Amino acid sequence: MEDRDGKIWMDGQMVEWRDAKIHVLSHTLHYGCGAFEGVRAYNTAKGPAIFRLAEHTDRLFNSAKILRMAIPFTKQEVMDAQKAVVRANGLESCYIRPLTWIGSQKLGISPKGNQIHLMVAAWTWGAYLGAEGMERGIRVKISSYTRHHVNITMTQAKAVSNYTNSILANMEALEDGYDEALLLDASGFVSEGSGENIFVVKDGVVYTPDLSAGALNGITRNTVSHICKDLGLELIQKRITRDEIYIADEAFFTGTAAEVTPIRELDRIEIGSGSRGPITEKIQAAFFDIVNGRNPKYADWLALV
Ligand code: PMP
Repeated sequence: MEDRDGKIWMDGQMVEWRDAKIHVLSHTLHYGCGAFEGVRAYNTAKGPAIFRLAEHTDRLFNSAKILRMAIPFTKQEVMDAQKAVVRANGLESCYIRPLTWIGSQKLGISPKGNQIHLMVAAWTWGAYLGAEGMERGIRVKISSYTRHHVNITMTQAKAVSNYTNSILANMEALEDGYDEALLLDASGFVSEGSGENIFVVKDGVVYTPDLSAGALNGITRNTVSHICKDLGLELIQKRITRDEIYIADEAFFTGTAAEVTPIRELDRIEIGSGSRGPITEKIQAAFFDIVNGRNPKYADWLALV
C-alpha cells in the first residue's frame, strides 16, 4: 500500500505518497484513540463526484468530538482536502480515507499536550465484498465476538479502536470460510457487520436494528431509508434477533465500501431463495442510480471534485 506513486494530503500539505509517514511514538499507534471516515467518489456524467461529502465530514468531526479531539482544520478545509486528493491523484471512481490521529509529542494515557493530525488519502477500490457477491449475495456467520456495548467504546464514533472488534470478527468469519461476520450486541440482538449496517426484508417490510444495538449510524443506511420512502417501502427500526434473519425473505448489508451487498446465507441457513432478493435488487439499483448521478432528486448529495 505504501510503495506507490500518488499524493496524500497531510496536515494541510499535499505530500508524495511514499513520504506520508508518522513517528513510531505516535499516541494513536499505542493507545488506539483516533477517528476516520470511509468516503466514495463516483464517476458521474458531470465528472468525478464525492457522495455525501458533507455528511461524512460532519461524522468525522462528531467522531473527534466524542473522542475529545480538536481537529485543527475547519469542515470546509477538510471537504476541500478530500476533493483535492481525488484531483491530485487523477482518480474518477475511488475510495477516500480521512483519518485524524494524536501525535508523538508525549506518551502516557492522557493525550494532553499532543498535536492532533489529519490526513486524507484516496485510491481505486472496487466492490468491497466482491463483484460476484453484489449479484449472488454473500455468506455470513454470526460472530463469536460481541459488538461494542454503547458505553464501552463509543459506538457513534467511527473510532480507530472500534475496529479491533471488527477485525477479530472478520478474521474469524473468513477463516471459517464465510465472506463476512454479523455481530450481536451484548444482549444478543443483531447489531451490524464488521464494517456494514444490516437490513432484512420480511413480507415486503424492511427492517434494520435501531442504534441502541451499538451499530454505527451509517450514511448508506440513511441513503437506503430515503430509497425505501421513494419505493413506497415501509422501513422499521427495531431490535432484531438472529433467528428473524434465518426466516427473513431477504437480507443485505450497506456501507460506503460495501455499498448494497445482498446476503444469501447466515450460519449456513439460506435466506429466502438463497440469492439476491427482488426488493434488495430494487434498492441496490436505486442506490447505484443515486451515487452515479442518474437520479436528479439527489444531485445535492454529489460534490463535484
Ligand atoms: N458499521 C461499521 C462498523 C462501519 O465501519 C461502516 C462503514 N463506515 C458502516 C457501519 C456503514 O457506514 P457508512 O454507510 O456510513 O459507510
